[in-house]
Amino acid sequence: MTQRILIVEDEPSIAELIAINLTHAGYEVEKALQTDVAMNMMRNQLPNLLILDWMLPGKSGVQFARELRANELTRGLPILMLTAKSEESDKVLGLDSGADDYVTKPFSPKELIARVKALLRRQTPMEDVGPLSVGPLRLDSVSHRVLAVWPNAEPKTIALGPTEFRLMQFLMGNPERVHTRGNLLDKVWGSDIYIEERTVDVHIKRLRAALAPYDCDRFVETIRGSGYRITKTPTET
Ligand code: CA
Repeated sequence: MTQRILIVEDEPSIAELIAINLTHAGYEVEKALQTDVAMNMMRNQLPNLLILDWMLPGKSGVQFARELRANELTRGLPILMLTAKSEESDKVLGLDSGADDYVTKPFSPKELIARVKALLRRQTPMEDVGPLSVGPLRLDSVSHRVLAVWPNAEPKTIALGPTEFRLMQFLMGNPERVHTRGNLLDKVWGSDIYIEERTVDVHIKRLRAALAPYDCDRFVETIRGSGYRITKTPTET
């Protein structure tokens, strides 16, 4: 099935350049100049991936990404952020807002396509390992849901973005072991594309923020100088 990509970019020449390259690569492409137009299009039909410019008139890409992550309909939508800003702090802010990856302008169309492909590939489920359980956390890869199950309480669904879900799936499938950032990049992101190790920290932070309201963030531990692990017996309380 042809995968659909929505481009939100206010500069028509850039949107057109991206669209041409994506179309050549076999994707179906839609364009929106503004976020409200994009939102209406998504209500009609959700794309497989969103390419979102950072600097937009009215609502910024960062603000829009935050809203999309908070919205039930678009929570799991992969977002590739386009940014003219190359400062490291800006990149982290872009990822913090809910984007799954970013490309800095001016970009090479080849790199953009490679990142689109890698991001879409990360949406395909990991090997189905059956239901996973660590402490109060339950993960069902078939229904794509993570639950917090505390004694004497209703199970609560924990809403995760696409990258956080994959990260959680890997951690819960390999619990109690410490995973280096490099290992997580390899297993969760795939080793075919260059992603900075700090990206892992950003997604761990996002994962913990999503777990915190259910008192589950402490099960994801930072092992100083080594990496991260999930454990049923966290040291901090
Ligand atoms: Ca712009």
